[in-house]
Amino acid sequence: MKLTALLTWSENQYSDLPWRRNRSLYRTLVSEIMLQQTTVTTVRNHFERFLARFPDLPSLAQASEEELTVAWKGLGYYRRARSLKKIAEAIYRDHGGVFPDNRAALMEIPGIGPYTASALIGIGMDLPALAVDANLERVIARLYRLPFEKGPKLQTEIQRRFEAGQIFVTDLSYRALNEALMDLGRTFCQARKASCELCPLKVECQAFESGDPLNWPKSKPAGSAAPVAHELHLLRVIVQKNDSILVYRKGSDEWLAGQYEVPTFILSSTDPQLSQYPRLTTDLSPGFSFNTGITKYKIKNSVLVLDEGEFKKLPFPAASEWRSVQAEDSNFSTATLKALGKLAKSEPLLPMD
Ligand code: SF4
Repeated sequence: MKLTALLTWSENQYSDLPWRRNRSLYRTLVSEIMLQQTTVTTVRNHFERFLARFPDLPSLAQASEEELTVAWKGLGYYRRARSLKKIAEAIYRDHGGVFPDNRAALMEIPGIGPYTASALIGIGMDLPALAVDANLERVIARLYRLPFEKGPKLQTEIQRRFEAGQIFVTDLSYRALNEALMDLGRTFCQARKASCELCPLKVECQAFESGDPLNWPKSKPAGSAAPVAHELHLLRVIVQKNDSILVYRKGSDEWLAGQYEVPTFILSSTDPQLSQYPRLTTDLSPGFSFNTGITKYKIKNSVLVLDEGEFKKLPFPAASEWRSVQAEDSNFSTATLKALGKLAKSEPLLPMD
Protein backbone atom coordinates (compact mmCIF):
# COMPACT_ATOMS: atom_id res chain seq x y z
CA MET A 1 0.00 0.00 0.00
CA LYS A 2 1.30 3.43 -0.95
CA LEU A 3 1.23 5.33 2.31
CA THR A 4 3.18 8.47 1.46
CA ALA A 5 0.08 10.43 0.45
CA LEU A 6 -1.62 9.49 3.72
CA LEU A 7 1.35 10.56 5.84
CA THR A 8 1.78 13.82 3.93
CA TRP A 9 -1.91 14.66 4.36
CA SER A 10 -1.74 13.96 8.11
CA GLU A 11 1.47 15.92 8.57
CA ASN A 12 0.02 18.92 6.75
CA GLN A 13 -3.24 18.90 8.68
CA TYR A 14 -2.49 17.76 12.21
CA SER A 15 1.19 18.16 13.10
CA ASP A 16 0.26 21.06 15.37
CA LEU A 17 -1.61 18.90 17.89
CA PRO A 18 0.12 19.66 21.21
CA TRP A 19 1.16 16.07 21.91
CA ARG A 20 2.86 15.91 18.52
CA ARG A 21 5.27 18.67 19.54
CA ASN A 22 8.22 18.34 21.96
CA ARG A 23 7.89 14.57 21.84
CA SER A 24 8.76 12.38 24.81
CA LEU A 25 7.49 9.00 25.99
CA TYR A 26 5.93 10.73 28.98
CA ARG A 27 3.96 13.12 26.75
CA THR A 28 2.89 10.20 24.56
CA LEU A 29 1.72 8.26 27.61
CA VAL A 30 -0.30 11.18 28.97
CA SER A 31 -1.89 11.99 25.62
CA GLU A 32 -2.78 8.37 24.84
CA ILE A 33 -4.47 7.87 28.22
CA MET A 34 -6.37 11.15 27.77
CA LEU A 35 -7.41 10.33 24.20
CA GLN A 36 -8.74 6.88 25.05
CA GLN A 37 -12.15 8.22 26.11
CA THR A 38 -12.03 11.94 25.38
CA THR A 39 -12.22 13.77 22.05
CA VAL A 40 -9.20 15.38 20.41
CA THR A 41 -10.82 18.81 20.79
CA THR A 42 -11.22 18.43 24.55
CA VAL A 43 -7.76 16.94 25.07
CA ARG A 44 -6.26 19.74 22.97
CA ASN A 45 -7.77 22.23 25.45
CA HIS A 46 -6.41 20.47 28.53
CA PHE A 47 -3.14 18.78 27.55
CA GLU A 48 -0.66 21.64 28.01
CA ARG A 49 -2.31 22.75 31.25
CA PHE A 50 -1.89 19.23 32.67
CA LEU A 51 1.72 19.10 31.43
CA ALA A 52 2.45 22.50 32.97
CA ARG A 53 1.31 21.13 36.33
CA PHE A 54 2.97 17.71 35.92
CA PRO A 55 5.80 18.18 33.41
CA ASP A 56 7.47 14.80 33.98
CA LEU A 57 7.14 11.35 35.52
CA PRO A 58 8.48 12.32 38.98
CA SER A 59 6.06 15.22 39.37
CA LEU A 60 3.10 13.03 38.41
CA ALA A 61 4.28 10.10 40.55
CA GLN A 62 4.42 12.40 43.59
CA ALA A 63 1.11 14.22 42.96
CA SER A 64 -1.50 14.26 45.69
CA GLU A 65 -5.01 13.02 44.95
CA GLU A 66 -6.35 16.56 45.15
CA GLU A 67 -3.72 18.02 42.81
CA LEU A 68 -4.41 15.26 40.32
CA THR A 69 -8.17 15.75 40.49
CA VAL A 70 -7.84 19.47 39.84
CA ALA A 71 -5.47 18.96 36.89
CA TRP A 72 -7.68 16.27 35.31
CA LYS A 73 -10.86 18.27 35.58
CA GLY A 74 -12.76 18.57 32.31
CA LEU A 75 -11.35 15.36 30.86
CA GLY A 76 -13.90 13.00 32.43
CA TYR A 77 -13.58 9.34 33.44
CA TYR A 78 -11.36 10.20 36.38
CA ARG A 79 -10.19 6.64 36.99
CA ARG A 80 -7.85 7.16 34.02
CA ALA A 81 -6.05 9.88 36.00
CA ARG A 82 -5.48 7.44 38.84
CA SER A 83 -4.29 4.79 36.42
CA LEU A 84 -1.91 7.29 34.82
CA LYS A 85 -0.45 8.21 38.20
CA LYS A 86 0.01 4.53 39.08
CA ILE A 87 1.86 3.96 35.80
CA ALA A 88 4.11 6.95 36.57
CA GLU A 89 4.75 5.63 40.10
CA ALA A 90 5.67 2.18 38.79
CA ILE A 91 8.08 3.49 36.15
CA TYR A 92 9.60 5.95 38.63
CA ARG A 93 9.93 3.35 41.42
CA ASP A 94 10.64 0.09 39.56
CA HIS A 95 12.43 1.28 36.41
CA GLY A 96 14.42 4.26 37.66
CA GLY A 97 12.15 6.65 35.77
CA VAL A 98 13.01 5.09 32.39
CA PHE A 99 10.26 3.57 30.23
CA PRO A 100 10.88 -0.12 29.41
CA ASP A 101 11.63 -0.48 25.71
CA ASN A 102 9.72 -3.66 24.96
CA ARG A 103 6.11 -4.72 24.92
CA ALA A 104 6.34 -7.51 27.52
CA ALA A 105 7.99 -5.29 30.13
CA LEU A 106 5.60 -2.43 29.44
CA MET A 107 2.60 -4.71 29.92
CA GLU A 108 3.87 -5.85 33.31
CA ILE A 109 3.20 -2.33 34.56
CA PRO A 110 -0.28 -2.11 36.11
CA GLY A 111 -2.44 0.16 33.95
CA ILE A 112 -0.60 -0.53 30.68
CA GLY A 113 -2.61 -2.86 28.47
CA PRO A 114 -2.03 -4.00 24.89
CA TYR A 115 -3.24 -0.72 23.36
CA THR A 116 -1.11 1.60 25.53
CA ALA A 117 1.95 -0.64 25.09
CA SER A 118 1.51 -0.53 21.31
CA ALA A 119 1.03 3.25 21.39
CA LEU A 120 4.22 3.72 23.42
CA ILE A 121 6.19 1.55 21.00
CA GLY A 122 4.59 2.68 17.73
CA ILE A 123 4.00 6.37 18.47
CA GLY A 124 6.35 7.06 21.39
CA MET A 125 9.39 5.05 20.19
CA ASP A 126 8.58 5.13 16.45
CA LEU A 127 9.13 1.37 16.18
CA PRO A 128 6.97 -1.17 14.29
CA ALA A 129 3.68 -1.50 16.21
CA LEU A 130 0.04 -0.73 15.48
CA ALA A 131 -1.97 0.99 18.22
CA VAL A 132 -5.34 -0.41 17.26
CA ASP A 133 -7.92 1.95 18.72
CA ALA A 134 -11.48 2.28 17.40
CA ASN A 135 -10.28 4.50 14.53
CA LEU A 136 -7.56 2.15 13.33
CA GLU A 137 -9.88 -0.81 13.74
CA ARG A 138 -12.50 0.77 11.46
CA VAL A 139 -10.09 2.15 8.85
CA ILE A 140 -8.16 -1.12 8.53
CA ALA A 141 -11.36 -3.20 8.42
CA ARG A 142 -12.45 -1.07 5.45
CA LEU A 143 -9.10 -0.93 3.67
CA TYR A 144 -8.93 -4.74 3.60
CA ARG A 145 -12.64 -5.59 3.89
CA LEU A 146 -12.03 -7.70 6.99
CA PRO A 147 -15.11 -9.85 7.64
CA PHE A 148 -15.38 -9.31 11.41
CA GLU A 149 -17.50 -7.26 13.81
CA LYS A 150 -15.63 -4.55 15.64
CA GLY A 151 -14.13 -5.81 18.85
CA PRO A 152 -11.54 -8.34 20.03
CA LYS A 153 -11.73 -10.72 17.04
CA LEU A 154 -11.19 -7.91 14.56
CA GLN A 155 -8.34 -6.45 16.61
CA THR A 156 -6.67 -9.87 16.89
CA GLU A 157 -6.95 -10.37 13.13
CA ILE A 158 -5.41 -6.95 12.47
CA GLN A 159 -2.49 -7.69 14.81
CA ARG A 160 -2.04 -11.15 13.28
CA ARG A 161 -1.82 -9.75 9.76
CA PHE A 162 0.55 -7.00 10.92
CA GLU A 163 2.88 -9.41 12.74
CA ALA A 164 2.80 -11.77 9.74
CA GLY A 165 3.98 -8.90 7.51
CA GLN A 166 0.75 -8.93 5.48
CA ILE A 167 -0.22 -5.32 6.10
CA PHE A 168 1.67 -2.04 6.62
CA VAL A 169 5.15 -3.25 5.78
CA THR A 170 6.91 0.05 5.22
CA ASP A 171 10.16 1.98 5.58
CA LEU A 172 8.17 5.03 6.59
CA SER A 173 7.76 6.16 10.19
CA TYR A 174 5.46 3.94 12.28
CA ARG A 175 4.74 6.92 14.50
CA ALA A 176 3.51 8.89 11.50
CA LEU A 177 1.60 5.87 10.19
CA ASN A 178 -0.29 5.28 13.45
CA GLU A 179 -1.14 8.94 13.81
CA ALA A 180 -2.21 9.28 10.17
CA LEU A 181 -4.54 6.28 10.43
CA MET A 182 -6.03 7.78 13.60
CA ASP A 183 -6.51 11.11 11.81
CA LEU A 184 -8.19 9.35 8.89
CA GLY A 185 -10.60 7.50 11.19
CA ARG A 186 -11.46 10.71 13.00
CA THR A 187 -12.13 12.72 9.86
CA PHE A 188 -12.90 11.07 6.51
CA CYS A 189 -13.48 7.49 7.66
CA GLN A 190 -16.00 7.86 10.47
CA ALA A 191 -18.29 5.13 11.77
CA ARG A 192 -21.45 6.52 10.16
CA LYS A 193 -19.94 8.61 7.38
CA ALA A 194 -17.14 7.88 4.92
CA SER A 195 -15.95 10.81 2.81
CA CYS A 196 -14.04 8.57 0.44
CA GLU A 197 -13.65 11.15 -2.34
CA LEU A 198 -11.40 13.16 -0.02
CA CYS A 199 -9.46 10.16 1.31
CA PRO A 200 -5.76 9.79 0.41
CA LEU A 201 -6.15 5.99 0.41
CA LYS A 202 -9.26 5.65 -1.75
CA VAL A 203 -7.44 4.18 -4.75
CA GLU A 204 -6.34 1.18 -2.72
CA CYS A 205 -9.30 0.85 -0.36
CA GLN A 206 -11.30 -2.33 -0.87
CA ALA A 207 -14.38 -0.98 0.92
CA PHE A 208 -14.42 2.09 -1.34
CA GLU A 209 -14.12 -0.20 -4.33
CA SER A 210 -17.17 -2.13 -3.12
CA GLY A 211 -19.28 1.04 -3.33
CA ASP A 212 -20.60 0.66 0.22
CA PRO A 213 -17.77 1.38 2.67
CA LEU A 214 -20.07 1.63 5.70
CA ASN A 215 -20.55 -2.15 5.43
CA TRP A 216 -17.25 -2.57 7.31
CA PRO A 217 -16.64 -3.43 10.09
CA LYS A 218 -19.56 -5.86 10.11
CA SER A 219 -22.57 -4.82 12.22
CA LYS A 220 -23.40 -6.57 15.44
CA PRO A 221 -26.41 -8.90 15.18
CA ALA A 222 -29.84 -7.44 15.97
CA GLY A 223 -30.53 -7.41 19.70
CA SER A 224 -27.02 -6.33 20.69
CA ALA A 225 -27.68 -2.58 20.47
CA ALA A 226 -25.85 0.00 22.57
CA PRO A 227 -26.94 0.27 26.21
CA VAL A 228 -29.93 2.52 26.86
CA ALA A 229 -29.35 5.96 28.32
CA HIS A 230 -30.99 6.57 31.68
CA GLU A 231 -32.89 9.63 32.85
CA LEU A 232 -31.83 10.92 36.23
CA HIS A 233 -33.31 13.75 38.26
CA LEU A 234 -31.03 15.05 41.04
CA LEU A 235 -31.65 17.59 43.75
CA ARG A 236 -28.59 19.78 44.45
CA VAL A 237 -28.84 21.55 47.80
CA ILE A 238 -26.94 24.80 48.35
CA VAL A 239 -26.37 25.78 51.97
CA GLN A 240 -24.42 29.05 52.33
CA LYS A 241 -22.64 30.71 55.25
CA ASN A 242 -20.67 33.91 54.55
CA ASP A 243 -18.49 33.03 51.53
CA SER A 244 -18.61 29.28 52.15
CA ILE A 245 -20.94 26.51 51.09
CA LEU A 246 -21.59 23.08 52.51
CA VAL A 247 -19.96 20.35 50.41
CA TYR A 248 -18.87 16.74 50.73
CA ARG A 249 -16.08 14.86 49.03
CA LYS A 250 -16.90 12.12 46.52
CA GLY A 251 -15.58 8.71 47.49
CA SER A 252 -12.97 6.75 45.56
CA ASP A 253 -15.55 4.38 44.07
CA GLU A 254 -17.99 7.11 43.02
CA TRP A 255 -18.34 9.37 39.99
CA LEU A 256 -15.98 12.37 40.15
CA ALA A 257 -13.90 10.70 42.86
CA GLY A 258 -12.06 13.25 45.00
CA GLN A 259 -14.11 16.25 43.86
CA TYR A 260 -16.38 18.32 46.11
CA GLU A 261 -20.10 18.44 45.52
CA VAL A 262 -22.97 20.16 47.22
CA PRO A 263 -25.21 17.65 49.04
CA THR A 264 -27.11 15.80 46.33
CA PHE A 265 -30.11 13.48 46.33
CA ILE A 266 -31.83 11.31 43.72
CA LEU A 267 -35.38 12.50 43.13
CA SER A 268 -36.05 9.97 40.38
CA SER A 269 -34.09 7.62 38.14
CA THR A 270 -34.91 5.16 35.39
CA ASP A 271 -32.01 3.08 36.72
CA PRO A 272 -33.16 1.39 39.93
CA GLN A 273 -29.59 0.16 40.58
CA LEU A 274 -28.08 3.62 40.84
CA SER A 275 -26.67 4.21 44.33
CA GLN A 276 -24.40 7.24 43.84
CA TYR A 277 -26.63 9.46 45.99
CA PRO A 278 -29.31 8.93 48.66
CA ARG A 279 -32.89 8.99 47.43
CA LEU A 280 -35.30 11.64 48.62
CA THR A 281 -39.01 12.24 48.37
CA THR A 282 -39.73 15.87 49.11
CA ASP A 283 -42.38 18.55 48.92
CA LEU A 284 -39.70 21.24 48.82
CA SER A 285 -39.74 23.32 45.61
CA PRO A 286 -36.39 23.69 43.87
CA GLY A 287 -35.67 27.14 42.46
CA PHE A 288 -34.17 26.36 39.06
CA SER A 289 -32.68 23.51 37.08
CA PHE A 290 -30.04 22.77 34.46
CA ASN A 291 -29.00 19.71 32.48
CA THR A 292 -25.77 17.74 32.54
CA GLY A 293 -24.71 14.22 31.59
CA ILE A 294 -22.31 11.57 32.80
CA THR A 295 -21.62 8.17 31.25
CA LYS A 296 -25.05 6.75 30.32
CA TYR A 297 -27.10 9.20 32.42
CA LYS A 298 -28.95 12.28 31.17
CA ILE A 299 -29.25 14.38 34.29
CA LYS A 300 -31.69 17.10 35.22
CA ASN A 301 -30.26 19.00 38.18
CA SER A 302 -32.78 20.91 40.30
CA VAL A 303 -31.27 23.37 42.74
CA LEU A 304 -32.63 24.14 46.18
CA VAL A 305 -31.21 26.80 48.51
CA LEU A 306 -31.68 26.00 52.21
CA ASP A 307 -30.38 27.39 55.49
CA GLU A 308 -28.31 25.12 57.71
CA GLY A 309 -31.21 24.31 60.04
CA GLU A 310 -33.44 23.21 57.16
CA PHE A 311 -30.66 21.12 55.63
CA LYS A 312 -30.06 19.23 58.87
CA LYS A 313 -33.62 17.87 58.65
CA LEU A 314 -32.74 16.08 55.40
CA PRO A 315 -31.37 12.51 55.53
CA PHE A 316 -27.95 13.19 54.02
CA PRO A 317 -25.48 10.52 55.20
CA ALA A 318 -22.08 11.78 53.96
CA ALA A 319 -19.85 13.95 56.14
CA SER A 320 -20.19 17.57 55.01
CA GLU A 321 -17.77 20.46 55.46
CA TRP A 322 -17.73 24.20 54.81
CA ARG A 323 -15.57 25.22 51.89
CA SER A 324 -14.92 28.68 50.50
CA VAL A 325 -16.45 29.39 47.12
CA GLN A 326 -13.54 31.76 46.46
CA ALA A 327 -10.83 29.08 46.72
CA GLU A 328 -9.30 28.72 43.28
CA ASP A 329 -8.24 25.14 43.92
CA SER A 330 -11.53 24.21 45.51
CA ASN A 331 -12.03 21.37 43.06
CA PHE A 332 -15.78 21.64 43.02
CA SER A 333 -17.54 19.36 40.57
CA THR A 334 -18.77 20.88 37.32
CA ALA A 335 -22.41 20.51 38.42
CA THR A 336 -21.65 22.32 41.68
CA LEU A 337 -19.95 25.17 39.81
CA LYS A 338 -22.89 25.39 37.39
CA ALA A 339 -25.36 25.55 40.26
CA LEU A 340 -23.32 28.29 41.98
CA GLY A 341 -22.88 30.20 38.73
CA LYS A 342 -26.58 30.21 37.98
CA LEU A 343 -27.35 31.26 41.52
CA ALA A 344 -24.81 34.11 41.38
CA LYS A 345 -26.23 35.42 38.11
CA SER A 346 -29.73 35.33 39.61
CA GLU A 347 -31.06 33.97 36.38
CA PRO A 348 -34.82 33.87 35.97
CA LEU A 349 -36.04 30.89 37.94
CA LEU A 350 -36.92 27.96 35.76
CA PRO A 351 -39.99 26.04 36.81
CA MET A 352 -39.47 22.43 37.81
CA ASP A 353 -41.55 20.20 35.55
S1 SF4 B 1 -11.60 5.24 0.98
FE1 SF4 B 1 -13.34 5.60 2.29
S2 SF4 B 1 -13.65 3.68 3.41
FE2 SF4 B 1 -11.61 3.61 2.51
S3 SF4 B 1 -10.27 4.32 4.15
FE3 SF4 B 1 -10.79 6.10 2.88
S4 SF4 B 1 -12.59 7.02 3.85
FE4 SF4 B 1 -12.34 4.95 4.68
